[in-house]
Amino acid sequence: MTPVSHAVEIRDLHKRFGKLEVLKGIDFTVDAGQVVCVIGPSGSGKSTLLRCVNLLEQPTSGRVVVEGVDLTDPDADLDAARRRVGMVFQQFNLFPHMTVLENVMIAQRRVLKRGRAEAERIAMENLEKVGVADKRDSYPAQLSGGQQQRVAIARALAMSPALMLFDEPTSALDPELVGDVLTVMRKLAEEGMTMLVVTHEMAFARDVADRVVFMDGGVIVEDGPAEQVIGAPREERTKSFLRRVL
Ligand code: ADP
Ligand code: MG
Repeated sequence: MTPVSHAVEIRDLHKRFGKLEVLKGIDFTVDAGQVVCVIGPSGSGKSTLLRCVNLLEQPTSGRVVVEGVDLTDPDADLDAARRRVGMVFQQFNLFPHMTVLENVMIAQRRVLKRGRAEAERIAMENLEKVGVADKRDSYPAQLSGGQQQRVAIARALAMSPALMLFDEPTSALDPELVGDVLTVMRKLAEEGMTMLVVTHEMAFARDVADRVVFMDGGVIVEDGPAEQVIGAPREERTKSFLRRVL
């Protein structure tokens, strides 16, 4: 047995929807405490990759190992593994009929079986961390998009995840609200959270990511230190993508 060293290990991952092969053999790892940004054109398979890491999609073949648990092993405790992974989506996905506090407490209560007082304490700690504690009794529709996304981040953090996945967390936000969300994500990165982030925010990727992975057409075209992939890309496809987005 080799010791567990990676927070995420993906080996020869394939995902097919009918005849469409969306992931064509993906290999990469994320070490504990690392921030890895995934960039690439629309339709390249970035969301599908994240969804295979937290089991919203079943891989067609290959291995996905999260915190040492092989999610593709039929004997794996998938619920336990899933609880280790927090996910933040482009469209916040808050429950509209629940207050901010209730949104951050519900999965703690139902899934982790935490008592009310403990769930509320952890909810408030995380709402404070993302700067929206004063909105605890508001409903999502009463908040700006940036505030809603920070609540969604607090909700994921309240589950004490080992790993956070972000799928274009700022793409649905008005430009003036993007900065608040990125500031929260930078803080998380500085605190040592392991993060896999799909983003079009190249400045964030360059400044915060340990590694940047460029995907195109269901394969990883380039994977390296952020300053190299963004600042001095080696592959023609990476260069032409960056010319379009920078
Ligand atoms: P990205 O996030 O990079 O834009 P996606 O992973 O969302 O890419 O999608 C990659 C490809 O997979 C697209 O062609 C998309 O239409 C297709 N796809 C994604 N999810 C499904 C699904 N559930 N069924 C069929 N095709 C899908
Ligand atoms: Mg996507």
